[in-house]
Amino acid sequence: MTSQPIDTPSPGDELIGRGNAHNSPTYGPSLVIDRGEGVWLWDVDGNEYLDFVAGIAVASLGYAHPALTAAIEAQARKVLHVSNMFYTEPQIELMEKLAARSFADRVFLCNSGTEATEAAMKLARRYQRAVAGVDRYEFVSMKYSFHGRTLASITATGQPKYHAGFEPLPAGHNYADFNDLASVEALVNERTAAIIVEPVQGEGGVRPATDEFLGGLRKLCDREGVLLIFDEVQTGVGRTGALFAYETYQVEPDIICLAKGLGGGVPVGAMMARDEVFSGFVKGSHASTFGGNPLACAAANVVLDTVESESLAENAAARGAELVAGLEEIASRRGVVTEVRGRGLMVGAQCEGDFAGRAAASAREHGLLVNTAGGTTVRFVPPLIVNSEHIALALERFDRALGAL
Ligand code: PLP
Repeated sequence: MTSQPIDTPSPGDELIGRGNAHNSPTYGPSLVIDRGEGVWLWDVDGNEYLDFVAGIAVASLGYAHPALTAAIEAQARKVLHVSNMFYTEPQIELMEKLAARSFADRVFLCNSGTEATEAAMKLARRYQRAVAGVDRYEFVSMKYSFHGRTLASITATGQPKYHAGFEPLPAGHNYADFNDLASVEALVNERTAAIIVEPVQGEGGVRPATDEFLGGLRKLCDREGVLLIFDEVQTGVGRTGALFAYETYQVEPDIICLAKGLGGGVPVGAMMARDEVFSGFVKGSHASTFGGNPLACAAANVVLDTVESESLAENAAARGAELVAGLEEIASRRGVVTEVRGRGLMVGAQCEGDFAGRAAASAREHGLLVNTAGGTTVRFVPPLIVNSEHIALALERFDRALGAL
C-alpha cells in the first residue's frame, strides 16, 4: 500500500469525496479503480489488487482481454446501436450461439439481470394464459433468493429488506424454503404460473441447491403444469463448471435468465426458452430499446467463444476445487470460518458473527478483493481465467488477512 502523509487526502480519497457529492445514496464505493489487466486491478493511488470480486461475477475474461477489447473496438467503428427495428450480425450470431449451446430455441436480449428475470415472469404469465389457457399468475420463489431490483424482481426476491418502503408490491408472490421441496409443494396451487430459483443462491450467501431439490422441482412443475425458471444471472456462462449450472444438475428449466458474465463487463442480459414457451409472446408483448445492442452482442460472442475455446468452465471447476480445498484448510486452523461451500468459481466462506465484513476489509488491506454475501459469508467469484498460482496467492492473502484480525 502506498503511504500518504497524515491528513493529506490521497488522489483516491479526493475522488471519492467528489463522487459522494453527487452519487445516489444507494451506493457507497470506497475505492477508485484506474485500470485492470487479467485478474489484477489497480486503483488511482497505485495500489494493486488480486480481484476475486470480478465486478460481482461479471468480468468472466478478466480485464483488458485482447480478444474482447478488439471485438468491442471493431464493433464501435462499425455501428453501435440500431434498435430492434433492424438486425445486426452480432445479434443474430449471439442468439444462434445461445440456442445451440442450451436447451432453448429463442432468446430475448436485454441489458441486465433484473430485466431478464422481469421478462421471464412476464413470459410465464403470458404462456399460462395465452398458450396453456389457464389463469395462472402466481410465483413461488425462495427465501434468501435474489432476482434483481425492479419491482417484480424485488418482489420475487425472498428477502424483506429489499421490499421495505417500496410497497405495495406486485401481487401473487409466495416464498418457500430453499432446498425444501415440501415447502414449495405446499405453496403450489392452480394459480401458480412458475417457480423461480437460483441453482446456487448468490447474494443470499453462496448456497448451492441440492440435486434432489432441483430434480424435485422439475417433477413438481411437470406434474402441476407450472413453469420452472432458473435465474442463472450469476451462475451462468461457465461460472459453476459448465456453461450453465443446470447442466451440472442435469435438470432442464423451462426458462433461463442470464446477465453478469455474459458480456464480460459490457451490460447484456438474456431470457431464453423453448419455442412452445416463447409462443406466449407475440410481436409487441415485450421490448427493450437497448436489447440486442450490437456492441453488447459483439462482446458476448467473444465471451461465449472464449469460454469454449479456453475451456473456462472446466477451469472454473478445477480452480474452484483448489479454492474450496484451500479455504477448508484455512477454516480448520481458524475457527472463525465455519463452512466453505459453492460450485465451480462461486465459492463462499461462512463466518461467525460480523466477521465476514471485517475479513473482506482486511483482505483488501492485504491486496485481495472479495466481498460479502448474505451478511455473514465472504464470497469469492474471480474471473474464470484464474490459474492455480492466482488461487494459491488469494488463499495466502486471505489467510494473512484473517490472521491480522
Ligand atoms: N439474479 C441474480 C441471481 C443476481 O445475482 C442478480 C444480481 O446480483 C440479479 C438477478 C440482478 O442482476 P442486475 O443487477 O444485472 O439487474
